[in-house]
Amino acid sequence: MPVKSYFNDHAAQYTSWRHDLHRQPELMYDLPETAAKIARWLREFGCDIVEEGIARSGVVGVIKGHDPDCGAVIGLRADMDALPITEASGLAFASQSDGKMHACGHDGHMAILLGAAQYLAQTRAFKGTVVVVFQPAEEGGGGGLQMCREGLMERFAIQEIYGLHNMPGIPAGHFAICEGPIMAACDEFDITISGNGGHAATPHLTIDPVIVAAQMIMALQTITSRNVNPHDQVVVSVCAVETDSTAHNVISEQVVLRGTVRSMSPQVRDFVEQQLGRVAISTAQAFGAQADVSYHRGYPVTFNHAAGTAHAIDAARAVSADVDPDVTPMMGAEDFSYMLEARPGAYIWLGNGDSAALHSPHYKFDDSILPYGAAWFSTLVEQRLPLD
Ligand SMILES: [Zn+2]
Ligand SMILES: [Zn+2]
Repeated sequence: MPVKSYFNDHAAQYTSWRHDLHRQPELMYDLPETAAKIARWLREFGCDIVEEGIARSGVVGVIKGHDPDCGAVIGLRADMDALPITEASGLAFASQSDGKMHACGHDGHMAILLGAAQYLAQTRAFKGTVVVVFQPAEEGGGGGLQMCREGLMERFAIQEIYGLHNMPGIPAGHFAICEGPIMAACDEFDITISGNGGHAATPHLTIDPVIVAAQMIMALQTITSRNVNPHDQVVVSVCAVETDSTAHNVISEQVVLRGTVRSMSPQVRDFVEQQLGRVAISTAQAFGAQADVSYHRGYPVTFNHAAGTAHAIDAARAVSADVDPDVTPMMGAEDFSYMLEARPGAYIWLGNGDSAALHSPHYKFDDSILPYGAAWFSTLVEQRLPLD
């Protein structure tokens, strides 16, 4: 089934917004140009309310349909921030800001939600109210959480919320989703191992923290292989090993291990945090060293609610012939998770075709998927908030 012709007819417009945003990437919460453009466009479309400055640079537009006070309010969300990457795409409209790039396609997500907002403000063929949410700082800054903390859901009386992300590796214009956890909780740890350094020729007079670190890295892998149910998805990765010796003949005093834990349920997340501490501290003790563990919880699991997932699938089937309703979840993380903790709804992937990976300097958003995304948001609204 082709995307509704309205959205195809507006594809050039969506592409020009996307390229405009792509040229001028901004990071985290510091999005003055991006936020100003979004607010200006939302006002041009005729949104009934446009509020700026939520979570510093977030922008919210309100579109009232028929009987706007009936209490039915749906939120639609896009992320706004770019990444600290030097673009190597070679595109004519590549980043004009050194060291900054829209390498996760958030420029495309904004263009998609702008397209939906323009359509919904023009047609208003729904009963209730639509709130379009443009959030800052998805890339590690927790902008989604900050908007919730500043009362996003309560101020705009949002009852349900939906989001999408483009996904390389899924054919362009295909949708993929699953009920329940779709993306992981993402935590970080730093383990500082303190030994007793000295001359490499007299190891018996030292407590070598490098040997302790080697044992510890292997022991930490038993959390996933021996302690957690094989049916539970968990990742424990030690990604950085730093010692304070750079010489061939000096045993260092201290080693720091840095890494990440990804999990799909609160129970497993709690268990891995505890077990990681136990393994680190007792491994160090076994060698006469000391371990200090610092564990930082990041984004929670992105959890697709059952009804919201069904609604997302229905809308996707109306705009695309290819919808995978049972995709394998990913161990990446997403701060839309906070919005799905606050309200029911769902998060769907829209295929970006055979592009370079997200966060690659060679990544390219596929403009041909813009009408699919805009049609999905708009169809979801019309299906969830039908006119009498
Ligand atoms: Zn990203
Ligand atoms: Zn992203």
